[in-house]
Amino acid sequence: MSLLYEVLPVGDLQCNSVILYDPDSKEAVLFDPGDEAENILNSLKRLSCKIISIVHTHAHFDHVMATEKIIKENSEKIPLYLHQEDKFLWEKLSDQTASFGMPSDIKTLPQIDKWLKDDDIITIGGEKIKTIHTPGHSPGSCCFFYDNKDNPILISGDTVFYGSIGRTDLWGGDMSQLMNSIHDKIIGLPDETKIIPGHGPSTTISEEKKHNPFFVR
Ligand SMILES: [Zn+2]
Ligand SMILES: [Zn+2]
Repeated sequence: MSLLYEVLPVGDLQCNSVILYDPDSKEAVLFDPGDEAENILNSLKRLSCKIISIVHTHAHFDHVMATEKIIKENSEKIPLYLHQEDKFLWEKLSDQTASFGMPSDIKTLPQIDKWLKDDDIITIGGEKIKTIHTPGHSPGSCCFFYDNKDNPILISGDTVFYGSIGRTDLWGGDMSQLMNSIHDKIIGLPDETKIIPGHGPSTTISEEKKHNPFFVR
């Protein structure tokens, strides 16, 4: 059976934390636990799911603040995933929160267990999710594609939003890289692909081709 998902907007910046899960095996991968650990854990409990890994689309503070709390609440070790090129952001969390005027009790983040590369596969209940490295919003930003025939899904982080794209004025952001990522790696995905962005409402590839000014070169 195909994977299901639940989107939880969390924290001051309403980062979309995504639980992607297999309703049969009850395995879940948690994307971007940005904040509100309790809320995320309660949803997992309600779904009777067990987290098998935590994947970060990138290391901006609004996508990572609940990671440590969630792994501490779990009796088994949960591996953490991030692209190598966002390591510098992972390591300077307190600089990030300070520059947004959001002083935080959390000063450092736990150790990453697996550094993601383009094309790496993440499995959930036997289903495969492909890592697509899409630098631009940050150097290590990634999208995750579930190539499910009837119902393909893209978890896009802050690379693509409904009608827009992520900002490129933060640490290591690069507008021309982001445009290349969209045109070389995202625009060619199936039109019916559902996009779950890092913030705001969901959309589809075909919808963005019609209305998103950044999908036109
Ligand atoms: Zn971001
Ligand atoms: Zn964000």
